[in-house]
Amino acid sequence: MAEPKYTRETVLSVRRWTPKLFSFTLTRPPGYRFTAGQFARIGLDTPAADVFRAYSIVSSPFADTLEFFSIVVPDGAFTSRLQHLQPGDTLLLEKIPYGFLTLARFQQPAPRDLWLLATGTGLAPFLSILQDFDVWKQYRRIVLAYSVRTADELAYKPEITDIAATFGENGAEFRFLPIITRDPEAALHQRFPALVADGGLEQAAALSLRPDRSHIMLCGNPAMVEDTRQALMARGLTMNRKGVGNIAVENYW
Ligand SMILES: Cc1cc2nc3c(=O)[nH]c(=O)nc-3n(C[C@H](O)[C@H](O)[C@H](O)COP(=O)(O)OP(=O)(O)OC[C@H]3O[C@@H](n4cnc5c(N)ncnc54)[C@H](O)[C@@H]3O)c2cc1C
Repeated sequence: MAEPKYTRETVLSVRRWTPKLFSFTLTRPPGYRFTAGQFARIGLDTPAADVFRAYSIVSSPFADTLEFFSIVVPDGAFTSRLQHLQPGDTLLLEKIPYGFLTLARFQQPAPRDLWLLATGTGLAPFLSILQDFDVWKQYRRIVLAYSVRTADELAYKPEITDIAATFGENGAEFRFLPIITRDPEAALHQRFPALVADGGLEQAAALSLRPDRSHIMLCGNPAMVEDTRQALMARGLTMNRKGVGNIAVENYW
């Protein structure tokens, strides 16, 4: 019989941020190597073992465990069941990681500035990238802009501050820009395409988006990714291909 392409891993912890958002950690199998920004494929440990989904890895490549950040889609084939996860449960983890939303895709030496633009759970790969010392050495400034609908959805806010303090000491300057789209009182509440087009994002970051200086990663909602990509291209920034160009993207659906 062919060897299964996954291992069985134990759920170590579950953290619920809101009724629709939670994080969980899994045991990390020996030999499971990944690059910050990559995603794992996770399956439910059912007799059929047939539902697998892509999940960006939140953890540092140096961590002993694997952390993930999940939405709950009410009728979703995977998350309607995954939401009931408890420590001690098992999940299936494909043996190899996937994906190219990694720093290696940008030709080095890097321009000065890295912009990480996330909607919702699209934050996950950026948390991993920020927990890799290399990024803090390679760039002079790092902007993390994290867009959610309501303030309670701003998961990982204190952790972001801690990560920047731990990994960023003596490294790049860090600017964290939370965006709360359903709160007109929030300092930033427009969607990314509008914030790029009207200069609001640059103003908040006190930094310009420039073809010669900026690497930009976009992750999350595909409509956001596409519209923001268009807004950036209208500003003269280009898609990253074969190492050259400014923009790299990952769509979650
Ligand atoms: C490369 C990659 C990485 C991913 N990483 C993550 C991750 O780190 N965390 C995560 O929660 N999901 C992630 N996803 C999405 C994930 O694979 C599943 O789609 C999600 O878990 C829902 O599965 P489901 O079967 O319940 O619903 P699905 O049938 O897969 O999706 C149903 C619908 O739910 C919505 N939806 C799906 N995922 C999300 C989401 N993350 N946020 C908001 N709405 C969504 C979309 O409208 C989608 O059409 C990733 C997807 C890809 C392709």
